[in-house]
Amino acid sequence: MSIASRLETLSFVLAIAPFFLLLPVELWQRSRRAALDKRLLFEQLASASPLVPTLLCAGVAASFVSALFAFAQTYIDWRISTTWLSAAACLLIVDFLYYVEHRASHRIRLLWAISHSVHHSSPLFDQVTGLRVSFVDGFLSPWFYLPAVLIGFDPKLIIACFLVMVGYQQWLHTDSIGKLGWFDRVFNSPSNHRVHHAIQTQYLDKNYGGILILWDRLFGTYEPEGELPHYGLTHQIQSTNPITVHVSEAWNLLREMYRHNGLVVKLRMLLGPPDLQIEPAKQAT
Ligand SMILES: [Zn+2]
Ligand SMILES: [Zn+2]
Repeated sequence: MSIASRLETLSFVLAIAPFFLLLPVELWQRSRRAALDKRLLFEQLASASPLVPTLLCAGVAASFVSALFAFAQTYIDWRISTTWLSAAACLLIVDFLYYVEHRASHRIRLLWAISHSVHHSSPLFDQVTGLRVSFVDGFLSPWFYLPAVLIGFDPKLIIACFLVMVGYQQWLHTDSIGKLGWFDRVFNSPSNHRVHHAIQTQYLDKNYGGILILWDRLFGTYEPEGELPHYGLTHQIQSTNPITVHVSEAWNLLREMYRHNGLVVKLRMLLGPPDLQIEPAKQAT
């Protein structure tokens, strides 16, 4: 079995095991707080709903990323052979590129609206929230990993490292694991990721890391957990309709662009941060 295949198997275990270990604990804790109700069920169904288009598009997304990486490889005439050492280096680089991707997904409104906001729009935070990922990610995300292809890593290894990094993040989506001491200062952890999903001002746009939280400490976006986090969007979508879950922020962006005149203004809205203030708006008709 190749190193890439072993890493893919590891990613599968990392993604699946915490779901089946932590979800029962979360449900049991909610039942003790009498919070096991219809609202929870609908919210969890809403969070699981993006799995449907993701699975339907999985084949197309896989073909897309393979074609994109193969095309990028034609620009270099060197290759790094895959060993456990180069796999570790690739995982480190992929983890850094994820930090870049994740930060861009929060600070460029186009990326936020059409994809990443879906992951953040639940007012709950549990193992099912970890599944709440837009299928659009499969087509946006690969562009951020082209530097790893151009360095010379095997595309199969890059994809396997990406899957390990994404699989690692499943266990982070829980309120059932508290702070973990030194681990929280080096690695992404449930405590660090609760901060990332929280909507209090001091927590916004913090803790973008995938596996290592060291990237946030290095680039000034680290915030430890203090006040009890509240989750969701600063303007909650107030809906568990799967269509609304997927399109609400994109719809808001389109509506705001329609209300403003000028190509430059519209481009600033697309490429600026989601909290960019643009005035004045023309009157809606
Ligand atoms: Zn995020
Ligand atoms: Zn998350």
